[in-house]
Amino acid sequence: MIDFRSLTRKGFEELAIEMGLKAYRGRQVFRWLWRPGLGGFSGISDLSAGMRERFSQAGYITRLKVIAERRSVDGTIKLGFGLADGLMVEGVLIPERGRRTLCVSTQVGCAMGCRFCHTAEMGFVRQLETSEIAGQVLSVIEHLGEGFRPKNLVFMGMGEPLANYENLIKAIDIISDDLGLGFSKRRITVSTCGLVPEMLRLGQEADVGLAISLHAPDDETRGEMMPVNRRYPLAQLMAACRAYPLSPRRRITFEYLLLAGMNDSIDHARKLAKLLRGIPSKINLILFNESPGLPFVAPSMDQAAAFQKVLMDAGYTVIIRKSKGQDIAAACGQLYVDMQGYASATQP
Ligand code: SF4
Repeated sequence: MIDFRSLTRKGFEELAIEMGLKAYRGRQVFRWLWRPGLGGFSGISDLSAGMRERFSQAGYITRLKVIAERRSVDGTIKLGFGLADGLMVEGVLIPERGRRTLCVSTQVGCAMGCRFCHTAEMGFVRQLETSEIAGQVLSVIEHLGEGFRPKNLVFMGMGEPLANYENLIKAIDIISDDLGLGFSKRRITVSTCGLVPEMLRLGQEADVGLAISLHAPDDETRGEMMPVNRRYPLAQLMAACRAYPLSPRRRITFEYLLLAGMNDSIDHARKLAKLLRGIPSKINLILFNESPGLPFVAPSMDQAAAFQKVLMDAGYTVIIRKSKGQDIAAACGQLYVDMQGYASATQP
């Protein structure tokens, strides 16, 4: 049986031809599948009953059910999506200046082991299917209504997106297809902790924005925080950033989590300014969310401002971000841990 929501438009056209139908029949079904509110094949009103029956015998429609919801005082909404095997992933809808950004998950758990991240504590559980990645976007619109349709999508939720490369690329194809979910690729950003070969592929195969979870300006500090740095040290990571094809107005976003005494000194800021020289960059400084079980503390606001000033004086665009949704554990690195508690409390 085919997981229909894991098929791109091209995949559907090929399937139609295999079924002895015209390719446009495949396109027709593809378009229906990504309309919010489709209940099943019986809802595809412009296919004959016989054809609906043939499609329904060839495969199934994956649906993500929202099994948990929390709303922050700052407007952030965290949703827990139930998967067919009983597992759950999360999406976080973040309001910002009248727009909404949806943070999408790509894996259940994560194998990357970043020391500041709660998701890492889960370890890797499994990859999300294409239907489960793109399905989070559809499910948000269905659950909250068209008025909550996100403007921007960031693959920055649970998991390392580029470690699920094939499914991610297909999901982006569906999400950006005007017969699919119709998002502009300019509004889609993929975040990575630095899987260099897949970054190079992404640059060739998808015209989407890139964000790097950088968090340190030298190999020694980064290696202590992020095991991936041993596989792909900064020299390789920066070379991949320089090779990433960017359209004229686009920049790479560098995420930098400030951890007191670890990576927040003026010297670190100067090294960072040097490291990024020549790369069209935007730097997000993120104040760490102190959390039980994680061995780090947040720096003072003065320290963060001094760090920011060094970078701004060097000519960079630098924003200090306070994580949104801290009161509902939806902030960076907080996904999963708290979710489990309230998911079990709200499940029917
Ligand atoms: S920060 Fe991202 S890549 Fe690192 S462990 Fe957490 S989810 Fe994985």
